[in-house]
Amino acid sequence: MYIISTKAMLNKAQREGYAVPAFNIHNLETLQVVVETAAELRSPLIVAGTPGTFSYAGVGNIVAIASDLAKSYQQPLAIHLDHHETLSDIAGKVEAGVRSVMIDGSHLPYDENCALVKAVADYCHRYDVSVEAELGRLGGQEDDLIVDAKDTLYTNPAQAREFVEKTGIDSLAVAIGTAHGLYAAEPKLDFDRLAEIRRSVDIPLVLHGASGLPTTDIRRAISLGVCKVNVATELKIAFSDALKAYLLSHPTASDPRHYMVPAKAAMKDVVRKVIHDCGCEGKL
Ligand SMILES: [Zn+2]
Repeated sequence: MYIISTKAMLNKAQREGYAVPAFNIHNLETLQVVVETAAELRSPLIVAGTPGTFSYAGVGNIVAIASDLAKSYQQPLAIHLDHHETLSDIAGKVEAGVRSVMIDGSHLPYDENCALVKAVADYCHRYDVSVEAELGRLGGQEDDLIVDAKDTLYTNPAQAREFVEKTGIDSLAVAIGTAHGLYAAEPKLDFDRLAEIRRSVDIPLVLHGASGLPTTDIRRAISLGVCKVNVATELKIAFSDALKAYLLSHPTASDPRHYMVPAKAAMKDVVRKVIHDCGCEGKL
C-alpha cells in the first residue's frame, strides 16, 4: 500500500514531536520533485491538491502518477484533498483512491460546519480515510478561496474541544494568525491561543498558510502541537520564478525537458528547507 491515510502518519508525528509537510502539487513536475526529495530525506509526505488542482490535472491522473512515483521510490505517501467543501466531491475522489481529506466548512455557521464535517467523517471513516476540518477562518487567497481580512476568525479553544468531540475528525486546522498566499507584513502568530487549543484538544493540529513563515515560528508551532504544515505558495513562486528566469535568458528554448530542469531544482530547494523546518527528516 503506497497511498495511505494521514492518520498513523500524523499520530506518529504527534508522539515524536515533529510535523509532516503537505505540499500543494499542480502538475507532473511538482509531484516528481516532492516525492523524489522526500524519498532522499526519508521523510513522511503528504501531497495536497485543492479542488482547482484536481479539476486542472484530473483526479485519476494525480492518483496514477502519485501511486507510480510512490512505488518507484518506495515512498508511501498521502494524497490529500485540500479545502474541499462538499461530501459528493469528496466521495467521488475517495472512490478514485484518495485516502486523506480536508472538509472545509469554516465559511458556514458553527452548527452547519459541525453537521457537514460529521457527515464527511462518518462517510470517510468507513473507508479508512482520514479527515481534517477547520475551525475559525484563515485570511488570504488559495485558488478560488478568498477570505477578506475582516472575515478572518481565530479558533476558539473551548469550541475546538466540542467541535472535535461532535464531529469525530482526525486532525484540526487552526486559525492562529497565519494566512494563505504571501504575507504583506510579518505575521504575528497567537502562540498562547495555540497552547490553549493544544490543552483542549488531543488530536494532531494543522497549520495552513505556512509559506513564508520564519523557521522559528514553524518550530514553535510544532512544539505546541502542530503536526502538519501546509506549503503551497512558496513552491509555486520558486517554480515560476526559475522558469521565467530561464526563458528570459534562453528566448529560443522550446523543450520542456530542458526548461523545467531549473524550475524543478528551485522547488527541490524549497522542499528540502520545509522538511528541515518540520524536523521530519529520517522519520519515514
Ligand atoms: Zn489552507
